[in-house]
Amino acid sequence: MFSYRHAFHAGNHADVLKHLVLVATLRHLMQKDAPLTLIDTHAGAGVYRIDGEAARTSGEALAGIGRLQPEHAGTPAPADVLADYLGLLAGFNRSAPAGAAWRVYPGSPLLMHALMSEPTRAAVRDRLRLFELHPSDFRALAAHVAQLHAGRQVQVERRDGFDGLKALLPPPASAGGSRRALVLIDPSYEIKSDYARVATAIQDALQRFATGVYLVWHPIIARPEAHALPRRLKTLARQAGRAWLHATLHVGQVAAGGLSASGMFVINPPHTLAAALRDALPRVRDALARGPNANWHVDTSD
Ligand code: SAM
Repeated sequence: MFSYRHAFHAGNHADVLKHLVLVATLRHLMQKDAPLTLIDTHAGAGVYRIDGEAARTSGEALAGIGRLQPEHAGTPAPADVLADYLGLLAGFNRSAPAGAAWRVYPGSPLLMHALMSEPTRAAVRDRLRLFELHPSDFRALAAHVAQLHAGRQVQVERRDGFDGLKALLPPPASAGGSRRALVLIDPSYEIKSDYARVATAIQDALQRFATGVYLVWHPIIARPEAHALPRRLKTLARQAGRAWLHATLHVGQVAAGGLSASGMFVINPPHTLAAALRDALPRVRDALARGPNANWHVDTSD
């Protein structure tokens, strides 16, 4: 069974990149007044304590979101994508004393739910579909979702997320006739076959629903499958005639065995995303850098 537990990694540099891209993409898609189907194939536990034992043991949140928190200016308006993302996190930490380190880090399901339930969006009635296989993380996720009192708008299944995705595409048409979906695919890649399964899932998804917005997180590590995945995703997007964006963040030197870099691959990215990330990522890099090798890149198909 799986040994990966996201609680050790929540709020690390990889989460920062992943959730910054997720929030920026969703914010853009939500400007249109038509419902979205949001799918998280590997949802995790939903929300994490970053002052708890798991986070303290790894120190990853401290070296990640802990270093970015001072960038949060406390301004309510989303001035840019980084301020918007940090503002959302601050919302989950309202009970913390002013100036204290954040104690809670929301995972992708709770971030998506926060955006779809904002007053300006709630009436549109987006749907959120979550998959999580690990028994403990599934139980935690189901409990967090129950507290949202979101009814059938948010559904959680203990099921393989790659299989679950197939059943949800194409998404249902809205009353206005439009079909819109954002899919986050965020495996732990603990099992080597995850790399191939991601590529197969994207190929299948593009056949079922070519206009969906697909976000794939991937680690940058010395492993042939890890190198090959972004190349394979570019080829799949190109073959389907779809635009793509690839954002990467390297934080520099980390402890042996730790993850120093990761990427987010987006198919059908909003046209505003590249510029927004090129504006935000230098500040993220500066805050999270561990040594001179830290860097970021944003490549696009244009
Ligand atoms: N997306 C979450 C977030 O951003 O907050 C983090 C997800 S974590 C990186 C990956 C999760 O996928 C783990 O909780 C793991 O238990 C779960 N998992 C692993 N294989 C899975 C599968 N085939 N289907 C669904 N969940 C799976």
